This record gives sequence, C-alpha cells and structure tokens, in this order.
Amino acid sequence: MAALLTIVLGITISADAYVPPPVTHVAATTTWVTQSYGIEATLEVASGRLDVVETLRVTNRAGLPISYLNISVLPRAFGFYEPTGRLTVDGERVATRWTTGTNLRVSLGRRLAPGEQATIRMPFRLTVGSAGGAFTARLSRDRGVISFGQWLPMVSPVLDSYGVGDPRVTTSAERITMDLTTTTRLPRDAVACAGLARAPAGSGTRWRCEIENARDFSFVVNPRFRLTRRTVDGIPMRVYTETVSGERTADLAETALRRLNRLYGRYPWPDLVLAEVGADDGFSMEYPAAIHLTRTKVVDPYVLYHEVTHQWFYAQLGNHQQHEPWLDEAFADFTARWLMGSPERSQCSDRPVDSPVFAWPAGRTAGGDWLSCDGYFHTVFYKGTEFLNAVRSAMGDRAFFAALREHIADNRYGMTTARRLLDHLQSRTDADLRPIYARYLEAY
Ligand SMILES: [Zn+2]
Repeated sequence: MAALLTIVLGITISADAYVPPPVTHVAATTTWVTQSYGIEATLEVASGRLDVVETLRVTNRAGLPISYLNISVLPRAFGFYEPTGRLTVDGERVATRWTTGTNLRVSLGRRLAPGEQATIRMPFRLTVGSAGGAFTARLSRDRGVISFGQWLPMVSPVLDSYGVGDPRVTTSAERITMDLTTTTRLPRDAVACAGLARAPAGSGTRWRCEIENARDFSFVVNPRFRLTRRTVDGIPMRVYTETVSGERTADLAETALRRLNRLYGRYPWPDLVLAEVGADDGFSMEYPAAIHLTRTKVVDPYVLYHEVTHQWFYAQLGNHQQHEPWLDEAFADFTARWLMGSPERSQCSDRPVDSPVFAWPAGRTAGGDWLSCDGYFHTVFYKGTEFLNAVRSAMGDRAFFAALREHIADNRYGMTTARRLLDHLQSRTDADLRPIYARYLEAY
C-alpha cells in the first residue's frame, strides 16, 4: 500500500503497519499542501529572544487523506528553540514527535481528506546566539545584529540539519505574514523584511511584513541600519547596511536585478531587500525576496550577483537542495560569472557535478570539505559552471537562455529536478547534449 500511495501521490508516504491495512489505517503525509503562515512575534533585541505564536493553515492537495505533517525546525539544531505551550490542531492538543534533530512530526489528530483544511497553532521561543561557521547569515546574533533566516517552522520533507549546503527544502506558501512587536522602541529602519507593509513613522515597536508565493521568510534586525532605496525596472529595492553606505551594494544589486530580469524573466515579488548581518565571515544567504550579506561580502560583486541570481534559481524555481544542490548553486555561480564577464574559475574536482551534499561528510551544523579540489565548491559551483558553459556553448546562447526562461516560467514557485530540467534543455536544441551530461553527471 505504501508503494501504491507513493505512486499515486508522488510524495512522501509511510506505512506504520507491516500488514497492508485498509487505506483508512495508513499513516500518510505529503508536502503537497496549500500553506499560509501567520506569525505573531515579540522581540527583545538585547537578549535575542523572539517569542512566537505561529498559525499554519494547510489544505490537503494530495489525492488521499493524510494524518500527519513534517515540520522543519532548524533552530533546534543550534539549541535556539524551545516550545512555550501546547501545539494544537483545530484547537485540540495533538501528538508530536522528533524524528530527526530538526524534523517535528505533527499528528493531525484525524484523517485530513483531500481539499480539507486544518489549522496548526505552534507557540515557541527562539533565543538566538551566534551560529558561527557557515550559518552566520541564517539564524544568528552577532555584534547586536540578529539575522532571522531559515528560522520559521515550515512544512518540509523529513530532513535534518547538515553542515554542507543548504539544509532546508520547503515548498512555496501562498502567504506568510508577520506582525512583529519589539520590547523597546527602535528606529523605523531597524527591521529589514521583504513585503514591509507597516512600520513606525520615526521610531516605534510594531512592524508588519507580508509575502506571497514564498518558500521561506527571513528578516534582519539592527537598530543601527542605514537604508538605501532604489527602484529597478519598477521594482522597489531596499538595502540595509551598517558598515558601508549602501550605495555600492545597491549599484551591484541594481545591475544584477536589471540584467537578470532580461535573462530569466521579470522578478515577480513586489520588492527586494538586501541586509547586512553582524558577522564578518560565513556565507551570505538567499531567501525569497531577501538576501542576507555577511560583512566581508557586502560590496563583493560576485556575491551580489550570485545571491540575486538565487531569486530565480531557488526562490522561484525550487529544488531539493540536499539531494541536487547543483540545481541552484551551479546556476548561481554560472550566472554571476556570466554577468561579470569573467571566465569560469578553474576547478580540479573528480566528483560528478550532481553529487548530493552528503558526498561530503559533515556534522549537523559544521564541518565538511568546502574548499579542496574534490570539495563542495569546486564540484558543485565551479565544475557546475564549466558544465553549464558546455551546454550553453552546444545550444547557443539564445536557445540556452530562452529554454531556462521557459522552464522557470513553467515551474514558478514550484520545484524542478535535474531530470526534468535537463530533458527540457535537450528538447529545445538539435545538438546532442547527452555526451556533455554523461561527462559531468553521475545520473547520466
Ligand atoms: Zn548560493
């Protein structure tokens, strides 16, 4: 039955019983749900404490009833997360269980039929410290700046935090709304979020942010932020910085956004936010309609072009970032270098471009070989770029970029796979791409 359900749904299904029971007794789940998130949050900046009541409304869009959901709670990997009350579904207390370090399995307390809705209420507290290492532009507090990235518990396949790559795979929510209250008065520009809908006139304690069609929601809080505004092709862009004026960052992001609009189709959200975090090091990070920049990278052209490209490859066109990380990272690396007119970076990896993040042993929040010849960067980024340049060269620039524009438009806010994307590219050219695929990819 489990196998049958998997075929029918094409999604995560598990059977609790060994003897095939009637369908009514199968514990089943899916990520195929319509989701909307309402966040009521109170922030004490000095301590990094965020008290949250999250309300998640889901509608089952799978073809069969489901009985539980998997929720990704990445802050738990850093010890930043604690529940502060009962988790309820439609007002009733339900059973929950941690099945990995960061996956909370939430029983729905009943079978949710196709098309049926449930409302999950989840109260919790984050006490944010420095995450360090690769994670400083995700959920971290450094030098009094708090970066809230990959912090919101969201529906996910079963995953755990991992030290290499991006440990978060979420599908787009219809809407995410946050009402943020601060325990002390802050300047208006202290809160950097996409979809800023409400802010105090000069200083105050209440902000509201709203975003639609987003697979994640992030924000950065810094009372010392300076705001630089631009409008790019009619799209408002806000750049929040502390250590630089913001003009150089805005120049780079503006160039990237304008050229990417032409290359991959117009940016779809109502605004784009870039915000500097408190740490010097670590990796800058992309979120839908938002980019968090570490201090040493806040005016780095490559990083700006790379992160803005993720607004197309990741934010619009999603992928499984643990199983097929090249689907967003190789495109971000390739496109950044294409925009800069700089040649691809030489690489020395013997590994296939389509290696999963687990090809590099790592801890849950640190470690992993990012830098050596056979490391993550050389393999997934630089060799990925070499691969994409080979495909582009075989197809011709015009056909290559047209095919990518088409694939993004056809899958906007959804997910793709390597197989689907590569088959699509092949279908748009007379050139035989298979020898190139075979040279660089394990799966071909
Ligand atoms: Zn990237």
